[in-house]
Order: sequence, then C-alpha cells, then structure tokens
Amino acid sequence: MNMLNLTYSYRIYPGLDQEAQMLDWLERCRRVYNYALAERKDWINSRKSPVNACSIRNEYIIPGDAPYPDYYQQQNALTKAKEEIPELKAVHSQVLQDALKRLDKSFKFRQERGFGFPRFKKFGQYRSLVFPQFKSHPVNGLEIKLPKVGAMPINLHRPIPDGFKVKQVRVVFKSSGWYAQLIIAADVNVPEPIPHGEPIGIDLGLEKFLAVSTGEMVERPRFFADLQSQLRWLQRKLRKKKKGSANYRKAQAKIRQLHEHIYNVRREFHFLTAHKLCDIAGIIFAEDLNLKMMSRGMLAKHCLDAAWGSFLEILKWVCWKRGVYFAKVDPHGTSQTCPQCATHTGNKELSQRVHHCGECGYTTDRDVAAAQVVVQRGLVLVADGQSAILPVEENCLGVPMKQESSRAILGSPHRNR
Ligand SMILES: [Zn+2]
Repeated sequence: MNMLNLTYSYRIYPGLDQEAQMLDWLERCRRVYNYALAERKDWINSRKSPVNACSIRNEYIIPGDAPYPDYYQQQNALTKAKEEIPELKAVHSQVLQDALKRLDKSFKFRQERGFGFPRFKKFGQYRSLVFPQFKSHPVNGLEIKLPKVGAMPINLHRPIPDGFKVKQVRVVFKSSGWYAQLIIAADVNVPEPIPHGEPIGIDLGLEKFLAVSTGEMVERPRFFADLQSQLRWLQRKLRKKKKGSANYRKAQAKIRQLHEHIYNVRREFHFLTAHKLCDIAGIIFAEDLNLKMMSRGMLAKHCLDAAWGSFLEILKWVCWKRGVYFAKVDPHGTSQTCPQCATHTGNKELSQRVHHCGECGYTTDRDVAAAQVVVQRGLVLVADGQSAILPVEENCLGVPMKQESSRAILGSPHRNR
C-alpha cells in the first residue's frame, strides 16, 4: 500500500467581501514574505564585508554571533510580530506561516541549483494562499468551505474520487478568476507499471523540442515564438505607460492574461506530446535533468529549468496513468558516445547537427543518437534491476487534464509504428 496524491483544480466563486478578504490576505502574506527575505538578505550581506573595513555599499552591521534567520527563527519572530501588528492576526495563521515556508523553500532550491536568489515580490505578485490542513472534508456538494473565509461556490466539473481525502487547498488568483487546487490523497494500492513493450529514449533539445530514439522529432511549435513576441510587445507598451495609472493597470492585466494563456497552451502541448510518446512505446527513458543541468553548464539553464522540468513531470504522470514504464537515466556524455559501437566520439559543438562515427561509420542526427544512448543506458539499468522507478507521489499538476481530447486529436494510437 502506498499513498497516492493527486492535484485537482476547480474554479471557485468568492463573494465580493470574501474576495476583498483574500486579496487582503495575499497582500499581508506578501509583506511577511518580503520582510523575511530582507532579513535573510541583510544577514548574508553583513557577512560579506571584511572585518577591518567598511563595505562600499552600506550594509547593516549585524553582530557576529547573531544566528542566521532560518525558518524556525522567523516562525518565532512572526508569532511575536502578531502581538504588535494586530492586522496579521486577521490572516489564518497557517496561511501566513506558509509565506515563510515558501521563502525557506526557495532558499533551499537556490542552494541545490546554485543560482536564482529569491526576489522581492512586487505588489500583486503574491497570488496564492495555502491552507495546509483540514480536519473535515471542505467540499460538500456545490460549496467549498475555507477556514476563516467561509463557504463559497465551487465548480466540481469532475467529482473527487471515492476514498480520497482533501489534504491541502491552494487558492490561486489568476487573471481569469479564482481557482482552488485540491491535493487529494488516498491509501490505495498503486500498481507500478512493469517494463514491457517497445523501449524508447528521448533527448530534450534546444532547437527541436525532443528527439526520439526511433528517429522521430517533435518540433517546438511555432505559436510559442509568436506568443513570446506578443508578450515582448505588450511589455514594451507597459514601459511607456505612467506607473500606477489606469492605463498602466490595464496593460498589466493584459500581460497577466497572456502569461496564463501561454501556460495553458504549453501544458496542452506537453500532454499531447506525452500521450504521443505513450502511443508508440511501452518503456520510456529520459535524461535526469538535475544531473543534466550540472553537465551542460549555464548555456541551457533557463530552458532546462522551466519547460523541460514541467514536461518531464507531465510525462511521468501520463506514463503512470497509461501503464507505461518510465525511468530516468544519467545523461552524462550522451551526445559523445556512438550508439552503435559505444565509441567515445568526443565533444560535439552545438552547431554540429549530425552524429558521424569514425569507427563504425554510423551516421544519424545528433539528438537521435543521444536518445539512442539514453535508451541503451535505461535498458542496462532495467536489466540490472536497479532502475529507480519513479512513483507518482504528487503530480504537481494543477489544471485538470484533457487526456480524452488529446487522444482524439492524435487519432489512432499506433500510427507511428
Ligand atoms: Zn560507432
């Protein structure tokens, strides 16, 4: 038996006063977040100044024995601050604590990756509230009941499955309205897919979206570039507007809408691609991005970070759902090995698009070659029985999935064989 966690997202419709209350909470959480971030930043900066001189920029002088304001320190400070600032008490205490938790997480994340120092959140940039605990089921019938906010209508467009309990609710304020993302959990026997069927490997690339070991390519859709340029155009327009004016806010709202649209479109594309891959394979191997990030350096950082990570999450989930075995392999040097004779062919420049082996004469696209190495490594792991099967603990997927529709678009499942 293991625990299965799922995230289901629903629209909710708070009343005017409830909306005002939640917007107020968002703003208070944002201030707590920024205060805590400033505290950590000051502490870190104060350590940078040499002992016998002053820093060129002015830093706060913080005593040498002052402990680093970590999560627990800040948690205690928050409890004290509540005595002095009664407005903080209006916010549900766990929701407020989550602001500190979020900051702590982003610092830990930074530590792991080595880049991405947390930034201050500007007005309106803090957009979700987390209710981490529920004693009883918050959803009954057509309403969801949030502590301290009260009941509000929810659009249960798909029912919560029997036997699942609501563990956590994240209320998100998007440009199209309010959403509740429910993390639901159940003790169920989750059958792990057993490796069977045709194995494929995939290589995520910068030019092409991905290459499959069978020789197929998935192109990066054109509309992404169009949407990105649209976004840049809107951002340029925003810069010309007077800050804080009505027109400024309107332009801001448009940008927010476009961001949400891009997010949705990208998700849709990721699901479609994941289903396509599941149509042609019984076993899928992909590169472990955390390891890949270290091996490829700064160049591909952003691409690796945003789009590829969420695609692999979605792929993992779709594979599990469809009984396809999924595992990650060590990506080290996948583009430097010949898939046919395992000769080390040396480092390829990014411009060199073709793999050509001097030993055996094997010639193919460089990304396809990398994908073929990935699948070989994966099969070795499976044979050794040491492959880390990745169970779906939490799929991190907020918005409801559109599997039915994507299958319909793709047509017959075996068209690629
Ligand atoms: Zn070769």
